[in-house]
Amino acid sequence: MSHIQPGRISLGFFPTPTVRLNRLTEAVGGADIFIKRDDLTGLALGGNKTRKLEYILADALAQGCDTIITAGAAQSNHCRQTAAAAAQLGLACHLVLGGEAPGQATGNLLLDQLFGSHIHWAGEHRKGEDIPVLQVQLAAAGHKPYVVPYGGSNELGAVAFLQASRELVAQTTEPFTHIVFASSSGGTQAGLMLGKVACDQGYQVLGINIDKGESGDLAFSAQVLELANRTARMLSMTHKFSAADVLLNDDYLGDGYGVVGAREREAILLTARTEGIILDPVYTGRAMGGLLAMLRTEEIAKDARVLFWHTGGAPALFAYADSLTPR
Ligand SMILES: *Cc1c(COP(=O)(O)O)cnc(C)c1O
Repeated sequence: MSHIQPGRISLGFFPTPTVRLNRLTEAVGGADIFIKRDDLTGLALGGNKTRKLEYILADALAQGCDTIITAGAAQSNHCRQTAAAAAQLGLACHLVLGGEAPGQATGNLLLDQLFGSHIHWAGEHRKGEDIPVLQVQLAAAGHKPYVVPYGGSNELGAVAFLQASRELVAQTTEPFTHIVFASSSGGTQAGLMLGKVACDQGYQVLGINIDKGESGDLAFSAQVLELANRTARMLSMTHKFSAADVLLNDDYLGDGYGVVGAREREAILLTARTEGIILDPVYTGRAMGGLLAMLRTEEIAKDARVLFWHTGGAPALFAYADSLTPR
């Protein structure tokens, strides 16, 4: 049977640490809480996109491309890590960002500029709606552009999180009951679903949906399902996922993408003050807020062993100083 084995380049430092959060576990008083530190992947202040880019940019190089295009919100962690990786590889990088140019760049946007990326402001379009036009323009100007999908969520991005699951399982002594993480473009979740099957694990792969805005025609959970099955086919895995395998919690969407509320603020402060660990305002703060709520209501039982997958995002904190200043 022919296996497609996707190529990989090295952009980060792996394995990332997995540790028990002793003081947070004690403060919450419920299940044991562990953390996978993908905020420490090493590329330009870290994050989960580093893993995906190791596979996606390997494909860009194999195709002989000289220019990378991707898209995201103004404070996109994905765009920041892509800009850094492109700089390291000597590739031009074009970012199509939602919103308008702010007076002063901060957080991820400041870093995008430091890495020399070309920034295109797209107003309401933060999910790459304007990429096809730019792609044609760059090709007409003699460049060889490669489009990295929104959030790095295609089959290659999912493969990265299948491999990350192997990395986690190799670090695990006693099995986890739940893997909890922020889910937004779906590659992390699809990859962790594949990893659960490939590594024969019993844990729940539980995504906390952080963005109610949906791109494309399919509902987000259907997109995750479709990506998991497409990736399984690419890898010649026989497993077929069904809708019931996509555990996506929509209870913590708050006031929408990137809006910091009381729940996010409390999770960020509690994690900072019990563990000295930085969560971000958009993704991990919201996911940890959801996890804390599920632990407190015992929706996740006291005898559980929960792994919180820290997906990064710290630079965005500096762009949200107003909503995070401790009171
Ligand atoms: C992109 C991102 C996520 C979501 O990962 P997806 O694979 O896009 O679902 C979570 N946390 C942070 C910090 C991110 O940058």
